[in-house]
Amino acid sequence: MKHLIDIESLTTDEINQICAKALDFEKGIRKTNHQNANVINMFFENSTRTRLSFEMAENKINCNKFNFSIDTSSINKGEDIFDTINNLSAIGMNAIVMRHWDNDLIKELSKKRYFQEISFVNAGSGTSAHPTQALLDYYTIKKHFLDVSKKTITIVGDIAHSRVAKSDIALLKKFNMRIKCLAPEYFAGEKIEGVEYYTDLKEAFSDTDIIMALRIQKERIQEHIDFDDYIKNYQITKENLPYAAFLMHPGPINKNIELREDVLETQNARTILNQAKNGVYIRMAVLDTVLISQGL
Ligand code: ASP
Repeated sequence: MKHLIDIESLTTDEINQICAKALDFEKGIRKTNHQNANVINMFFENSTRTRLSFEMAENKINCNKFNFSIDTSSINKGEDIFDTINNLSAIGMNAIVMRHWDNDLIKELSKKRYFQEISFVNAGSGTSAHPTQALLDYYTIKKHFLDVSKKTITIVGDIAHSRVAKSDIALLKKFNMRIKCLAPEYFAGEKIEGVEYYTDLKEAFSDTDIIMALRIQKERIQEHIDFDDYIKNYQITKENLPYAAFLMHPGPINKNIELREDVLETQNARTILNQAKNGVYIRMAVLDTVLISQGL
């Protein structure tokens, strides 16, 4: 695996290998030293968990870590992004962790030839993909439920604008999980084959092992949304949360919009911080894999 652009390009074996490696990192069985590798983080959109867990992972695998500052870079002087990356490869960068608002840019960039070989790792592209989030979500689910193929997940909220939903669905489908999406029409997005769509919360929650809430992506929505209506019909509360359901959220949470605040005190919600923790091991495994593909 030279790049990680999306989930669609991974086989189930590759996904399981990344998870197995992440588990070895988590248990401390696997140690690596990528002291000859240079990894640069380029974030064109805001981030807390993804950026810092990549940085933590980079420290833990002992590579040399760089942070690209968009605001003080020559991109602000009008430099084309391909030229910037070509120069980064000439300077000696071996891998780029990139978050960008454009759905396809990272895929296009990964197909080009550079001064020296360089790997791309997608840390979130527009509304299209967030592969490391899907891998850490799967890792979190798999650690709890050994046979995921017998389990049902309900993804709730702004599916249309969520790259997390797209990548999670692509991954969980590969492992034959039953996937339900619960959303009002205006958030359901393009219907994905093999996914069951619900507009009624009670119906969707009547039979589910996992509930994954999504943030309403206000920064990507132009049309008017009736938040009161959304909260009334789709907010997850202590009352409507099924007793044994595993509650997930990729973060950041809009408290009292997709989740009522008191839900965060329940045992069900402990998973949310475990997702953040597991992100470090998954990102260690992904970076280790792409760097090894370059012999580093
Ligand atoms: N942090 C996730 C992402 O970057 C989820 C979100 O922002 O809602 O897509």
